[in-house]
Amino acid sequence: QSKEKGKDRYTFFRTDMKTDSEAEAKVELELHDAVKNDQFILVFQPQVNLRSQSITGVEALVRWEHPERGLLSPAEFLPIVEKTSLAPVLGRIVIDTALAAARHWLDSRLDFGRVSINISPSHLASGLLAEHFKEAMVKYNIGPERITAEVLESVFLSDNRSGHLEALEELYDLGVHIELDDFGTGYASLTHVADLPINGLKIDKSFTNQMLQDPKKEAVVNQLIHLARSLNIGIVCEGVETEAQYDRLRMMGDFSIQGYLIARPMTFDRMTDWMTESADDLYYVI
Ligand code: C2E
Ligand code: MG
Ligand code: MG
Ligand code: MG
Repeated sequence: QSKEKGKDRYTFFRTDMKTDSEAEAKVELELHDAVKNDQFILVFQPQVNLRSQSITGVEALVRWEHPERGLLSPAEFLPIVEKTSLAPVLGRIVIDTALAAARHWLDSRLDFGRVSINISPSHLASGLLAEHFKEAMVKYNIGPERITAEVLESVFLSDNRSGHLEALEELYDLGVHIELDDFGTGYASLTHVADLPINGLKIDKSFTNQMLQDPKKEAVVNQLIHLARSLNIGIVCEGVETEAQYDRLRMMGDFSIQGYLIARPMTFDRMTDWMTESADDLYYVI
């Protein structure tokens, strides 16, 4: 009987593997349609200074409005995008849409600090990244002081480290801020951080999540805050979900936080309303 079961499982796996690659090929075709038919949207999540609570940045997060499967999050399609030639294409759309949003907020006199854009490793390696930024900066008349590029810490651990570094230096020279995303998960040597062209670190949410239960995680958070201070770069702590986490972080320093406690990612219209309301709140305090 167990042999029978084993055989079933084998068959199941074979079928599954075949379906997986077929599914992937199908998604790739759909992604091309998605580009053509404008199915990508951005949602936005604010970052605030944990002392003043004023907004310091807005992170743009991509979603795919799939005609049949509904709203898809990046985990469901970015891995496939990364394997195709579409990464720079999608990256360019994201940059364009994010800077269009920034232009709208500036025109509405809403302060948003910087708009943060996630950069995919393939886009970074494509040689097109700085060009795509320049093009959108001119189109929407947005200066580099309004833009942050978030790059995964892990790109510096890849085979193409020097290629990635060159692309980042180009952006850095433009004046665009560069932050290392998901910091603490990629095992980058802390001594290397000092040599990278970066303006800030984003502490990964896995540390924030567990910091109150696990003293080691809290120690890492503390060390990263000190590291950033000594290198004179910024900190954004992501994944802040509870008052207790917020209170603990407040005791550690003066930096920015991002997470469900402040706000969930939201559509452009809701983000605009949120900024308008925050601006009103500040006005009433004065
Ligand atoms: P990330 O850049 O680290 O973005 C933060 C992720 O954490 C987002 O997930 C956000 O919705 C989620 N998040 C925010 N606050 C909290 C919180 O308090 N608790 C928890 N548990 N999660 C929180 P999302 O939007 O699903 O994005 C996942 C990842 O996909 C991003 O991680 C980023 O690496 C990538 N990504 C998103 N948008 C883009 C994009 O436009 N281009 C590229 N290349 N990558 C993107
Ligand atoms: Mg990010
Ligand atoms: Mg992150
Ligand atoms: Mg992440």
